[in-house]
Amino acid sequence: MKTYPIVAGNWKMHKTPNEGILFVKKTVNMLLDIQKVTIIFSPPFTTLFELDVEAPFYLGAQNCHWESQGAFTGEISPEMLVDCGVEFVIVGHSERRHVFHESDEWINNKVHAVLNAKMKSILCIGETLEDRESNQTKSILSSQLSKGLNGIKSLENIVLAYEPVWAIGTGKTASIEQIEEAHQLIRSELQKDFSTEESQNVSILYGGSVKDDNARELISIEGVDGFLIGGASLKAESFTAIARNVEQQMKETI
Ligand code: PEP
Repeated sequence: MKTYPIVAGNWKMHKTPNEGILFVKKTVNMLLDIQKVTIIFSPPFTTLFELDVEAPFYLGAQNCHWESQGAFTGEISPEMLVDCGVEFVIVGHSERRHVFHESDEWINNKVHAVLNAKMKSILCIGETLEDRESNQTKSILSSQLSKGLNGIKSLENIVLAYEPVWAIGTGKTASIEQIEEAHQLIRSELQKDFSTEESQNVSILYGGSVKDDNARELISIEGVDGFLIGGASLKAESFTAIARNVEQQMKETI
């Protein structure tokens, strides 16, 4: 069964704990009537540990290590996140892949660790502009997908995010056709390793310059089950407007 669409904010390295607490309070108050959308706040760790929210609001982490504990200076384990009420962990974000050079193997370790800790993994995949211009989009997406999900037996606690790297933080959104094609490709690739039912029902988010003024159009694309949002998740007005657009679309399609 399909779950409610997801609107996930990725704050990246923004907001102090005090700013974050005020922001979440304001945003939750603005969205008290939301019923058909799952809303995720993914602040930096320092803020995450100060927050406490209730459904339909959830806490997401932007990263974690795959080991439970040990000599890993600067890292946070899945168990530490669970203890702070975190339910979703973003894994393989393009900044982790391209700025911090995380390998597919590390990303796969993280997906396993997140699931073992009984959280949900938001696995991000996406091609660079160079990949797209050299017709590598399909092979990059299938490779990131199969390597990221290597050894995973069920999609039950997996959320995928298609995030073309060239659309992240650039103001450039992928076209409707590009998004539809990528989401279809992801579902058909998943069918090689998972049941048709799981592949059809898994949530695939789109991320890349989603704003309040394009959210309505983007959420109506076939196969798009919500958004992962960077810049526009930092302002209560734009983030809540996106959530409202998604809720409206849900109400109209049921
Ligand atoms: C992101 O960081 O995942 C993202 C999609 O950023 P933005 O919305 O700013 O493009």
